[in-house]
Amino acid sequence: MQVKLYDTTLRDGSQREGISFTVADKLKIAQKLDELGIHYIEGGWPGSNPKDSEFFVQVKSLKLKNAKMVAFGSTRRPKVKAEADATLKQLFEAGTEYVTLVGKSSARQVTQVLETTLEENLAMITDSIEYLRSKCIKVFLDAEHFFDGYKDNPEYSIQVLQAAEKAGAEGVVLCDTNGGSLPEEIAEAVEAVTKSVNICVGIHSHNDTEMAVANSIAALKAGASQIQGTINGFGERCGNANMCSIIPILKLKMGIDCITDSQLKLLTDTSHYISELANLVSEPFLPYVGASAFSHKAGLHVSGLSKWSGSYQHIEPELVGNRQRLLVSELAGRSNSVQRAKAIGINLTPDSKEVKDLLQQVKKMESMGFQYENAEASFDLLVNRTQAGYAAPFELIDFMVVVEKQRRPSAMRSQDEMMAEGIVKVRVDGEVMHTVAEGNGPINALDAALRKGLCQFYPELSSVHLSDYKVRILEQTSGTDALVRVLIESTDGESTWHTVGASPNIIEASWLALSDSFEYWLITKKCKNCKKQ
Ligand SMILES: [Zn+2]
Repeated sequence: MQVKLYDTTLRDGSQREGISFTVADKLKIAQKLDELGIHYIEGGWPGSNPKDSEFFVQVKSLKLKNAKMVAFGSTRRPKVKAEADATLKQLFEAGTEYVTLVGKSSARQVTQVLETTLEENLAMITDSIEYLRSKCIKVFLDAEHFFDGYKDNPEYSIQVLQAAEKAGAEGVVLCDTNGGSLPEEIAEAVEAVTKSVNICVGIHSHNDTEMAVANSIAALKAGASQIQGTINGFGERCGNANMCSIIPILKLKMGIDCITDSQLKLLTDTSHYISELANLVSEPFLPYVGASAFSHKAGLHVSGLSKWSGSYQHIEPELVGNRQRLLVSELAGRSNSVQRAKAIGINLTPDSKEVKDLLQQVKKMESMGFQYENAEASFDLLVNRTQAGYAAPFELIDFMVVVEKQRRPSAMRSQDEMMAEGIVKVRVDGEVMHTVAEGNGPINALDAALRKGLCQFYPELSSVHLSDYKVRILEQTSGTDALVRVLIESTDGESTWHTVGASPNIIEASWLALSDSFEYWLITKKCKNCKKQ
């Protein structure tokens, strides 16, 4: 079975509230989608805004290996000749091999919304396709409101598709524009369509009833061969069919080889990359690609997974480029801790005193506000610290931080500068370093001072930096003396890790998370090349 993937993240996906891609973002996304093995990339609506027009100019210089670029636009307006229609002219000028034309396929929409006759709508579709065909452009008809139209007046909806076929369209794409259809309704209509036209049939579903992926699969089973969707399901209202779910369903559940195995391994990375460009936090609970899609908290599950990896997960996470995570919390049993320790090369015996002490320590730390579910690196340090002979790469003697507000002469109050100075004393191999550094805030200053001291011993540490910093107040009812938890995400450009700190003092909480981040990096393989100067 041949299935073509048609991605519309750059057009329909960018309709999601809050998303605004720049031309540079759109080019990067097109490149990623091509690497993933997507067959058609809908780049936007040329002429609808300057950004989309510019995109179609610049995209010509991208060397796409797998994908065909598609421009999107509407059929000619009523009572206007195709040759004189501005939209069609801009579509032609976009210079793509393929164009998708949106046309009405619901009789009620034609008369009530477009306010023209059913005959004129058919003529608009025919003329527009014939015009683009005469320019050697291949055309898909995006049959808007197809399923709602089919329920009201199936004869007319089918007539629209047949008109498109007769005019030379490559395929017709059936849209559940309002996203309100159910899988069996979709299947029934698609089956009728495949009996009425002999060109490729596509499905474009919206997620208003949380059915977009199910509807896409139902359409496929009923004879559709092109699936449209967006990365992470981005789209207007509740979004479009999520390509990040559709692709692995096709590959791993239905045995349809729509992309290669190695391309499938890029899926999680592609999902996160595009979220990042959309300036959205990656949704951790997305199937297949979310950070929590293969995370295990219950002790019983973790114990099962250690015996058989398929016991509590439906696929191997590595197939889609994701990974299994074993969460450690006071609720979790000893098997999580033992498995987690094993992952960092420390063998613990489940019933040993060592494990009992470790769990005791986790409980104690959690009662103080620490939480290890999202801070695996801090947990790994906790395990390491229970090992006899563990020597931390540095030892903090003390720190001090001064924050000052400086008024510039004749400046407005809002232009006052905040300055911070951090002073840190650390011991490395018996040698005490005393360093001072400035920053724009207390954490930034402490980070700079600690780094300055440690880099004299471990120069590679300069590649480590903070990529995220989150503060959470743990006692909502308390005021400014509340216990706070700080979670830090760090990266060295290759990998990321998470550490935690907790204290009633935000600076101390940040400090604990920060020094854990450095210690973790120094003891993991990342620093094998570290040499003391
Ligand atoms: Zn749509």
